[in-house]
Amino acid sequence: MSKTDTDVLIIGAGVIGLAISYFLSKNNIRVVLIEKEKNFGTGVSSRNTEVIHAGIYYKKNSLKSSLCIRGKSLLYEYCKKYKVSHKQVGKFFIINEVEDRGVLEQIEQQAGENGVKDLKYYSSNDIKKYEPLLNAKNALFSPTSGIIDSHAYMQSLLKISEDNGAIFSPLSIFLDAEFSLNKWTVKLKGNELYKITSNIVINAAGLDSVEISKKINSNIKIPEENFAKGEYLRYSGKAPFSHIIYPALIPGKIMERADATPDLWGGLRFGPTLQYTKSKTDFNVSKNLINRFAPAIKKYFPELDEKKLTLDIAGIRPKIKTKNLELEDFKFEWGINQGWLDIWGIESPGLTASLAIGEHVFNQVKQNL
Ligand SMILES: Cc1cc2nc3c(=O)[nH]c(=O)nc-3n(C[C@H](O)[C@H](O)[C@H](O)COP(=O)(O)OP(=O)(O)OC[C@H]3O[C@@H](n4cnc5c(N)ncnc54)[C@H](O)[C@@H]3O)c2cc1C
Repeated sequence: MSKTDTDVLIIGAGVIGLAISYFLSKNNIRVVLIEKEKNFGTGVSSRNTEVIHAGIYYKKNSLKSSLCIRGKSLLYEYCKKYKVSHKQVGKFFIINEVEDRGVLEQIEQQAGENGVKDLKYYSSNDIKKYEPLLNAKNALFSPTSGIIDSHAYMQSLLKISEDNGAIFSPLSIFLDAEFSLNKWTVKLKGNELYKITSNIVINAAGLDSVEISKKINSNIKIPEENFAKGEYLRYSGKAPFSHIIYPALIPGKIMERADATPDLWGGLRFGPTLQYTKSKTDFNVSKNLINRFAPAIKKYFPELDEKKLTLDIAGIRPKIKTKNLELEDFKFEWGINQGWLDIWGIESPGLTASLAIGEHVFNQVKQNL
């Protein structure tokens, strides 16, 4: 059994583990980033909408709101600096009935409370100038929403981390860890069993983070998992819209909408759906999704040709159970002499917030090292 020593061991090379590794390594902290799969970024981070969210509809003072807004700025700066493909396309929140105008006002109010003050109303005629195929009575436009090539972004985070000295260890499964004499001894399974000692361990294992927390003898309260699947449809042919289109939502309310999101390659996807599930490995897409979604899409895209819709991918949100679903937030919990950090509930807007999460964790780690 070989043995390595490090300052920080991060479990999970998804966008969160990678962003933390980027921040720590550029500040001269020794990092080992372990990943159970052969490649980085094949978990939740590979199955999402790739939207850079503006931070509009999360609850005031929540981590989702503050880390999304900070993360959005950091992400745009990062993409420009390191030439990661992205596009600030903007997002239309639309309504199809005049009576629903109150919903747009609620979105604007929530955005204002969160400090996002750049939303603009569009009339039906104005909308047509930007999106000729879009049918909407009114819209609220968010200019700072965008789309990103998330794989290229993660690849860039990994390269810079490695250039800064971080060690990436794929095909390394976290098994268990013990704390003694102010250090963790972490047991891993690769080609053989091996151990790494580390001052701090960060559990950024996405869908597996709660399960891993349960293996560690800690006094902290571990939340219950509440996985929620999201399925997508792909539109074949040229994308009918160049902006992100969201049927207006009620801030804080979790519900299924048939959003339309263009990608960087001229394509477009509809979704994701929202179904609670016990499984974190069931990525099947329901055969009836086209029939289920088509009427909702036709409300704002009347010319939809259903034959152009095909079943696409599914992703699973690593939600945690709260008494009141509206209070769901990201969770960072330090346990065992400030040497173990659990990160739970990193669902959307985790990709947007990733650099702000990296920065947030770095600020805590430097106090605890
Ligand atoms: C349907 C859907 C749509 C979304 N859309 C958006 C969006 O448009 N914009 C946005 O900002 N966010 C979006 N998100 C959220 C975003 O994708 C996630 O917040 C983010 O990808 C979470 O990253 P992660 O690193 O925490 O998890 P992951 O990417 O899952 O990374 C965790 C890693 O840990 C590894 N691991 C697990 N167990 C072990 C172990 N025992 N040992 C070693 N490694 C282990 C896994 O293999 C995995 O690679 C969406 C999410 C979903 C599901």
